[in-house]
Amino acid sequence: MIALDGVTPPSGGTGCLHSVPWFTARLGGALTELTVSGRDLTLSEILSLAIRRTADAHAATCDLSHPRTPQATVVLTRWDADSVEYLVLSDSALLVRGADGAVTPVLDDRLDRLPRAALVSDALVDASLRNKEGGFFTAAADPAVAARAVTGSLPRREVRALAALTDGATRWTEVFREGDWTALFDVVAKEGARSLVERVRELETADREQRAYLGRGKTHDDATVVVAEL
Ligand SMILES: [Zn+2]
Repeated sequence: MIALDGVTPPSGGTGCLHSVPWFTARLGGALTELTVSGRDLTLSEILSLAIRRTADAHAATCDLSHPRTPQATVVLTRWDADSVEYLVLSDSALLVRGADGAVTPVLDDRLDRLPRAALVSDALVDASLRNKEGGFFTAAADPAVAARAVTGSLPRREVRALAALTDGATRWTEVFREGDWTALFDVVAKEGARSLVERVRELETADREQRAYLGRGKTHDDATVVVAEL
């Protein structure tokens, strides 16, 4: 299971001739292929190879050292009969529903630990902090970032279901406080992913006037939910 959330660049240059969707399609395609063909590779190694392959596809035409070169958050999972492997990089979330029904979030909370003053909006962070020591890390053009991801493995028998969510969808819990991670997973399981996104959209619309107070720069953010029942 793969979920990528392309980082929307601010107006101005990115050093790249390509679009963010071009980048995420390339990266996602490489991750899909490598998780199948590279059974002996760890998910970190697979992410590293996929970033390199994507970078190679436009290194000749684009300035990949540009701080706003196309980049994405990553949630990557893979399972077989014995284990469930996971990787989370940047501010998308992975929720793991255990055999007992309890839901555990896997979060790369580095972004939350940045000083609030560094965040100019929830999706637009000072470029000086991107992919630098002390800042936060997304999948861009440097394969070494894969080592920064939160990774792990769980026994397959202990995992009932997985859900990957971009930050536009985790707002239901993290911004609007409508319920905890277990409640969020219950909404997705009982009503479907679309229902969760619609609930977030309703909350955002009702809450538009308070955006300045809460410091959110955008009314809406890309909201994607991917669910796998094991
Ligand atoms: Zn490019």
